[in-house]
Parts: sequence; structure tokens; C-alpha cells
Amino acid sequence: MNSAQNAPTSPKLTPNMALKYRNTFGFEVCAESAYEITAAEQIPKVMQQIAEQKLPWRVLGGGSNVILPKVLPGVTLLMNIPGQEITRSDESNTVITVGAGVNWHDFVSWTIEQQLPGLENLALIPGTVGAAPIQNIGAYGAEVADFIDSIEAFDTAAHAFVTLPKAACQFAYRDSYFKQNPHRFIVTKVAFKIPKAWEPRLQYADLARQFAGADTKPTAQQIFTAVCNIRSQKLPDPKVIGNAGSFFQNPIVPDKQYLDLLQVHPQLVSYPDQTGMRKLAAGWLIDQCGFKGQTVGSVGVYKNQALVLVNHGDGTAEDILNLAKSIQDKVREIYGVQLEIEPNIF
Ligand code: FAD
Ligand code: NAP
Repeated sequence: MNSAQNAPTSPKLTPNMALKYRNTFGFEVCAESAYEITAAEQIPKVMQQIAEQKLPWRVLGGGSNVILPKVLPGVTLLMNIPGQEITRSDESNTVITVGAGVNWHDFVSWTIEQQLPGLENLALIPGTVGAAPIQNIGAYGAEVADFIDSIEAFDTAAHAFVTLPKAACQFAYRDSYFKQNPHRFIVTKVAFKIPKAWEPRLQYADLARQFAGADTKPTAQQIFTAVCNIRSQKLPDPKVIGNAGSFFQNPIVPDKQYLDLLQVHPQLVSYPDQTGMRKLAAGWLIDQCGFKGQTVGSVGVYKNQALVLVNHGDGTAEDILNLAKSIQDKVREIYGVQLEIEPNIF
């Protein structure tokens, strides 16, 4: 790795880097060697060396959707590419190009300050801009795919930079082409297309309640503030209690399975899915199985939201995955539904 260290655009290399600060579960993690990537041009050389030395590797953004082991072998790329600029503006849209390492919430705040409404429902989601397309982050009826124009990435299979238009990204509910092809693309920049026509999206009950009875429609700034307030009250702050947000995806089931379940469990909470199937509220299933607020050793299920698993202190990936398995087993036994883990297990 010495030649990469000496090159003018070389990323900083730190051996045995502690990553407790860079995973929101707050697990004690040590990366054998970590490169801080601050420019896309640094990537080809690092990847060439990784390939030559046949080292294991992975990409880390803010660490808010990962379950990390005690030791990360080989190379960890820490995505710190900065920068955001308006690259196009016409009658209909504003296009903003943003570096993969920019903090997602800071970017959303900036768009609201710039009077570019659209992303307000996605406020206060932790992590980086570069990770946002990986699982097509979503909240309160909006998802990042709604605003993506194109994505620049290093394609490790072709050893070349590529620009993927939105249509090539195969976005779906918490899913994308990137998630389907792990270890292939390193996202370096995201171009967002923010439409100038804007309507508030208030279909989620928590958000609708905030503005019920108002005479005028709320502004994007008001929705942004409301989303920040609701989330701060409902979700544990990772700086205080380690967590990775929702631990399981909401299961999407065929109508027949949903109707059969409804007969046995008339209180079942569910919503129509974008694809015409039925989305079951995973948090409700876990709550009904009695897990909400339970603690097992150093880990547990958050007291206000059963979908969030937490690290109370010195928990490990193994502790969390054991707890997750007991939840999956119980939910499958009672409801016949398989819960899939949302964060990426390294
Ligand atoms: P990381 O956790 O570092 O990485 C996640 C995955 O993306 C990994 O597989 C990693 O290899 C890959 N990756 C990261 N950066 C890149 C890159 N530049 N190129 C290629 N691959 C990359 N998610 C939602 O969808 N909606 C929510 O409302 C939401 N709320 C949350 C609330 C809390 C309190 C927490 C802790 C998490 C929440 N999340 C939510 C999950 C998480 O914030 C998002 O998935 C976020 O996009 C992860 O960003 P990150 O930079 O931390 O990614
Ligand atoms: P909530 O509003 O209490 O809703 C519970 C579940 O029901 C959510 O999972 C949501 O699905 C679904 N839901 C509620 N109203 C809906 C509607 N009108 N149409 C379709 N689906 C509806 O959820 P919450 O826990 O407070 O979270 C609020 C939002 O933030 C949700 O969108 C959630 O996804 C997001 N969030 C995500 C994470 C994460 O890590 N992925 C963490 C925290 C919060 P959806 O999940 O599909 O929206």
C-alpha cells in the first residue's frame, strides 16, 4: 500500500483504526486498515492494490445501517468525499450534485434553506449521501429514488467510473441495483433532481396530526421541523443508545396471505404496497410477540419502538444477531412471516 500513500491524491491510511465512533450501534470495532477516501480519483489505485493483494474490503459511510464484527479484516474504505453544488436549473427542476461523504441530514437542511423543497420528509435520517441510494432510504411516504437523477460510481467489476441514470438503479422498496450487487459499486457522487412543483406529503398519521385543522397548507420548512421533532421523540439517539434504526424490513406479502392472517388477527396493522401486495408493520408483529422493551444482556428492543434493536453498552454483533434470531423465530411461529434483517451484516 506504500505507493498509494505517496501519491499526491493518496487517501490517508490508518492501521488498526477504532470504528466505535463510526457505527451507530456503538460496537467496539477495529478495522485492520482504513482509507479515508476524500476524492473519487483516489479509488482506482486503492482498488487495484486490493485486487492484487486479494484483500477483503468493504465501504463504510456513516455506519448507521451496518452490523460490524470486532475485527474488520483487510481494507475498509471510509467515504468522506465532500461537496455540493447546483449543476442545473430550468423551469421545472433543480439538479444538485453532492459528494458521497456529505452528511444526509445536513444536505436536506441545506436544500430547505435554499428554498428547494422536496426532501423534508427525509430529514434527520443518519448517514451519508452516498449510502442513501443503496437501500433507497425512505420515511413518511417519501423515498430518495423520487429525487435521484443519476449516480456516479466506481464499478469494481469493470475497474472504471460509470454514471448510472435513475432507470438503471432499479429502485424498489428499500432496495436498489447497488444493494442487489454488493461489493460492486462505490458511489462517489449523487445528482438529485428536485422538481420546482411542490406539494406537501402528509399521509402518515404522526405527520398529519401535526397539521390537522390548519387553514393553510404547511411549508416545507414546517414539515422539516415537524419530522425532526417527531423523530427525536420517537427514535433513540444513537449518541445516547446504540442502534441502527429499523432492524427488520416490513414484510411484503401476497393478498391471500394477508387476508388469511387478518381472519386470525383482526388487529393486524398493514398498508397497501407500491406493487399491489400488502406491507405488514414489522414493529406491530414484534410488539404483539411481547418483545418491546425487553433486555437480554447488553442488548434489547427499544421501549418506544419494537422495530429498533438497541445496544445498552457493551453489546456485540453476536448479541444483536442472537436477539434478532429469537424475534424472527417467534414471529414466524405465531404469524408464519419471515422477518428480514435490514442493516448490512459485515
Ligand atoms: P453505512 O451504514 O455506512 O452503510 C450502509 C451500506 O451502504 C453498507 O452496505 C455500505 O457498504 C454501503 N455504502 C455506504 N456508502 C456507500 C458508498 N458510497 N458506495 C457504495 N456503498 C456504500 N433508513 C431509512 O431508509 N429510513 C429512515 O427513516 C432511517 N432512519 C434511521 C434512524 C436511525 C436512528 C438510524 C440509526 C438509522 C436509520 N436508517 C434509516 C438507516 C440508515 O440511516 C440509512 O440506511 C443510511 O442511508 C445509511 O447511511 P450510512 O452512510 O450510515 O451507511
Ligand atoms: P410509523 O409512522 O409509526 O408507521 C409504522 C409502519 O407503518 C412504518 O413502517 C410505515 O411503513 C407504515 N406506515 C405508516 N403509515 C403509513 C401510510 N400512510 N402508508 C404506508 N405505510 C405506512 O413509523 P415510525 O417507526 O414512526 O417511522 C416513521 C417513518 O420513518 C417510516 O416511514 C419509517 O420507515 C421511517 N424510519 C425508518 C427507519 C429505518 O431504519 N429504516 C428508522 C426509523 C424510521 P414504511 O416504513 O414503509 O414507511
